[in-house]
Amino acid sequence: MTLATMQWIDLRVGDILTFAAENHGDREVVTSTGAGRVRRSYSDVYNRARRLSGGLAAAGFKAGDRLATLAWNHHRHLELYYAIPGIGAAVHTLNPRMPATDLAYMVDVAEDIALFFDSDLAGLAQEIAASCTRPLRLFELSDAEATLNGAMPFEALIWDSPGPADWVPVRETDIFAICFTSGTTGSPKGVAYTHRSSVLHAMAGCMTEGQRIGGEETVLPVVPMFHANAWGLAHSAPMAGAGLVLPGRWLDGPSLLNLIKGEQVSFVCGVPTVWQGILDAAGESPDFGSLKRAGIGGAAPSRAMLMQLESAGLDVFHSWGMTETNPSAGTGLLKSSHRDEPLEARVDRKLGQGRPVFGLERRIVSDCGDPVPRDGKTPGRLLVRGNWVVGRYLNADAGLEDGWFDTGDIATIDQDGYMVIVDRAKDLIKSGGEWISSSDLESRALSVDGILQAAAIARPDEKWGERPVLFVVCRPGFAVETEQVKHALAEQLPRWQVPEDIHVRDALPLTATGKTDKKRLRSELLALLADRQFA
Ligand code: AMP
Repeated sequence: MTLATMQWIDLRVGDILTFAAENHGDREVVTSTGAGRVRRSYSDVYNRARRLSGGLAAAGFKAGDRLATLAWNHHRHLELYYAIPGIGAAVHTLNPRMPATDLAYMVDVAEDIALFFDSDLAGLAQEIAASCTRPLRLFELSDAEATLNGAMPFEALIWDSPGPADWVPVRETDIFAICFTSGTTGSPKGVAYTHRSSVLHAMAGCMTEGQRIGGEETVLPVVPMFHANAWGLAHSAPMAGAGLVLPGRWLDGPSLLNLIKGEQVSFVCGVPTVWQGILDAAGESPDFGSLKRAGIGGAAPSRAMLMQLESAGLDVFHSWGMTETNPSAGTGLLKSSHRDEPLEARVDRKLGQGRPVFGLERRIVSDCGDPVPRDGKTPGRLLVRGNWVVGRYLNADAGLEDGWFDTGDIATIDQDGYMVIVDRAKDLIKSGGEWISSSDLESRALSVDGILQAAAIARPDEKWGERPVLFVVCRPGFAVETEQVKHALAEQLPRWQVPEDIHVRDALPLTATGKTDKKRLRSELLALLADRQFA
């Protein structure tokens, strides 16, 4: 006999938009089109998404299908975010910065049967369709007719829709979205998000001690809808009744600054490279208009960047996460007792990867799996588990052995719960049996005047096993000498940790999600070393 007396209602992402339309129907969703802007409201998005669901069903799509998107952040992508799960299918977001062969592989693994693509990505869509093993129905996300031969115009699904569809009452454990990891290490793996994981993740985003998305906020997600759900903002913003401003494909600093000021944006979320663009565009005495909060994540920002943003009056929200954690797994908010600390101390704390929010647990363990003390000093392998953490990769035979997901990151955690990512396990450099943290080397290099970007990797060494190699990119107008960097590092680090090899480059290779591509740097370095050996 059950004693529970409360209702059970499955958590479904579609209910978020229904709620927004009913309660925040006039709140705007603005999309930049480069030359202009498309203005919609949550009511419009809801009405079009339901008609779109009707159109998708009439076109023969049904519950359990997987439909892929290849699109920037805009209103049509948002409609697909809700209309596809609305018919009980899953939306598989593809990253247009990846090569066609990788994307075709993902389409095959996910068993996608349709691809919705932006007109400027038509060539890539065509290549994917030609490379994957089963036929893909193509829909072009254009205003009117499709430009690609064989593709249907997306709008026709809405014009020809038999009417708004009632959204399928799926179970909360059903898949509603799929995303592949960016492959910073190893090959991409698919993560299938459930309605439940994303609704809970969005609720955590709206918590005062979470991402703090509230109705007063106008959010500009520069973080892409094609990777890890744009940090959940396409769900948490409508849930909170916050305004949404979508940048389309105009992601350069001047365009973003213009959008921030023009649309009274209060919160922007982007990776450090995006913020660098915004800072460069803002110049020496930055005016960010209505902007109050700066969300940074996806990779570690430099101290200089946090200082610049905080000194300009912005409250930096630095968070950590992974595709496998939906993605937010750490809140960048300081504890209430630390919020009034002086600027320097606040910045030091915010440089770390934040505290946990309810629903997500973290542990750090040694290589043998023993717990490591939470003293803020002792590093260990970071394990997480929670309501929005992956349990098993798409189509993988086995899940997690003990329910804890090994992130591949090495971190310290202190008594207050603040975490600091010391490195990715695969990026640590082992020299003479001792570990050197690549991210520590990088952040110290970034503190040298005139250095814009830094990346440290290991090279094989006969005597020491591995030695660090540092690559740096100078700020425009600066010419930093490698000896200068070496000297600056030698003042801060034991001698054995200072790299003998420092290279100045024009740019660092980036992954499809804007992080330094260390896989590519390593293969470039190995090729260079081989050339030298045979020269
Ligand atoms: P992805 O799955 O592409 O989102 O990559 C996840 C990985 O990016 C994490 O395991 C971290 O190594 C790294 N990462 C994400 N956010 C941060 C951050 N704020 N600081 C440092 N590394 C980060």
